[in-house]
Amino acid sequence: MPRGHDTCWRRLGAASPGIRRYDCAMSARADQGRYTPDPDQMALWPDVSGNAINGLSETAPRRPSPVYWHEPDTIPHGPLQNWFYSRYTQSADVVAARARRQEIIDRPLPDIAPVQRLESPAQWSALIRDMAKTFGADDAGIARMDASWIFEGRDQGEWKWAVVIAVAHDYEALKTAPGDAAATEVVNQYGRALKVVKDLTGWIRDQGWAADLKGGPMAGSMVMIPAAIEAGLGELGRHGSMIHRTFGANFRLALVLTDLPLAADGADVFGADDFCTSCRVCSDACPPQAIADHKQWVRGTEKWYVDFDKCLPFFNENKGCAICIAVCPWSRPGVAETLVKKMARRRARAT
Ligand code: SF4
Ligand code: SF4
Repeated sequence: MPRGHDTCWRRLGAASPGIRRYDCAMSARADQGRYTPDPDQMALWPDVSGNAINGLSETAPRRPSPVYWHEPDTIPHGPLQNWFYSRYTQSADVVAARARRQEIIDRPLPDIAPVQRLESPAQWSALIRDMAKTFGADDAGIARMDASWIFEGRDQGEWKWAVVIAVAHDYEALKTAPGDAAATEVVNQYGRALKVVKDLTGWIRDQGWAADLKGGPMAGSMVMIPAAIEAGLGELGRHGSMIHRTFGANFRLALVLTDLPLAADGADVFGADDFCTSCRVCSDACPPQAIADHKQWVRGTEKWYVDFDKCLPFFNENKGCAICIAVCPWSRPGVAETLVKKMARRRARAT
């Protein structure tokens, strides 16, 4: 049954009385249960489940295994990744955005200056946050590097710190998801995030300290979301993306790895996870019904998890989809701040 406007309002109203501006048009266009994957795509499906690779139902901790956004010939789902790009790049706007991003990727980094600037960890941390914003970040946070974020079999070096930055999408473009406008906006913001971390990495090297960078969508050697949570950039939402206290799920990440002496920010817990327990807007809107109604064990952590095998075919056929982050009530400009206050009041009443 297609989910309509009325269902959406009831669900959000129950979770969030007073937030009456949310428009469920995007949820209404989702046609749950009627999506049938393209057989040409499914012919490329490997013998292994992406959920098994991700460690779904595993209660023991382990490092993540590469599953998608890696060199296609190194992963079982590589032919599907190639299939995605063959469709995704049919849009001239997406191709132009990817070319702009590639120019940023190709820009060389400076060598590390021979003389090190010396500051206290608190001073360096404040400087790094300021410089990240000067270079165009909408938010930035610092996390102590954790080896459990590095993919099995990949070498990430011995970095001490991850400086994670966030850049917000243009919501007007993102809310058109799925389609060319939203896909172009996503590539544009990946490019903007890469520019920020490239400039920040260069600046750190100019101060005489080692630094390297990582930007999406290619996964490279480590997962970014756990680092971003530890850096205080938000909480994990039911849709498997992060929710920031200002941008909701409407943003992209990139990070800088460095040995600069820094101080960790710590996680920012403001109630998004709690809100998700009584909101189902994203799961109602997801055409292949990939978003679970409960948390699940994944490599030793109980958390929100999106079914990879259900999401990927629709994602691939629909320009990277993004419906779930577009419909999330936290993503609509101005709503996140209101919800943060609402969740703080709820916590205060409960204590
Ligand atoms: S990106 Fe995946 S989980 Fe999100 S709405 Fe699309 S198909 Fe569903
Ligand atoms: S991720 Fe967003 S849309 Fe999904 S349940 Fe949480 S608040 Fe609702």
